[in-house]
Amino acid sequence: MSFSGTVKEELAGQISPARHCQMAELAALLHFGGGVCEGGKHLCLHTENEAVAKKCFTLLKKAFNIDNVVTNAKGRMLPDGEAESKVLQALHLGGNEGCPIALQAPVSSLLVKNSCCARAYLRGAFLSIGSMSDPQKSYHLEFVCDERAQAEQLRNMIQGFGIEAKVIRRKKYDVVYLKEGAGIVDLLNVMGAHVSLMNLENLRIVKGMRNSINRRVNCETANISKTVTAASKQIEDILLIRDRYGFENLPDNLRQMAEVRLEYPDAALKELGGYLEPAVGKSGVNHRLRRLSEIADGIRS
Ligand SMILES: [Zn+2]
Repeated sequence: MSFSGTVKEELAGQISPARHCQMAELAALLHFGGGVCEGGKHLCLHTENEAVAKKCFTLLKKAFNIDNVVTNAKGRMLPDGEAESKVLQALHLGGNEGCPIALQAPVSSLLVKNSCCARAYLRGAFLSIGSMSDPQKSYHLEFVCDERAQAEQLRNMIQGFGIEAKVIRRKKYDVVYLKEGAGIVDLLNVMGAHVSLMNLENLRIVKGMRNSINRRVNCETANISKTVTAASKQIEDILLIRDRYGFENLPDNLRQMAEVRLEYPDAALKELGGYLEPAVGKSGVNHRLRRLSEIADGIRS
């Protein structure tokens, strides 16, 4: 399952105990995922997500004691007009006709004036119109709204929790989005997705660690490859001198240097110096190798 799907699954399982919060969440589910169908006869919910539909039924049962929801090809509907107007009225959702159609926007601020209810509302909104990218790849969470007023209300509610959110126009939608890992973590917390929040935090830690390890490895690899390149060039020079010029024609200190380098092709300069008789420091080794390289260049030209 995608990360987004896991978050929704977790949120779908969260039922607020207080009726005010249940109503706020139900309002979001109907507001963003519902409509009034069949010439205003039925309030219905349009969702592909079984868990979300189930949650809507649970909330209808708990908050309004309605349990005879019908499912048909067009979606899931409240059975009779009376139940429907009861729900719409209680949730301050003026019913517009047509299907699918967003109900009146934005939602009444009365429903979300408590912070507990605002959390429940955001949870319902995310279940209906929210999604987030795979955090392995990028940090992006968004709500896709039909209307600007809905988007602005959502953004203001999110900002009310001290979380940075923006609205952007995309095709015919107004999209509320968060781009920062820390903000997304905070919003998951506000909505009550605590397991997903921990998973995301762990991932962010691992990602941060991996980046710093990568930086270090890249740096070390660069140094190693520089050393290897230098050593193989030295060995090439030395072999050329041996075959075309002869070690016996080299001064003693250079002959010894050439032999030691051939014997220890992987050794660092400092280590090579220790094999010489008498031992020589790093800069002495460097100097002799440079001399050998000049001799090789002389032979080549
Ligand atoms: Zn509440």
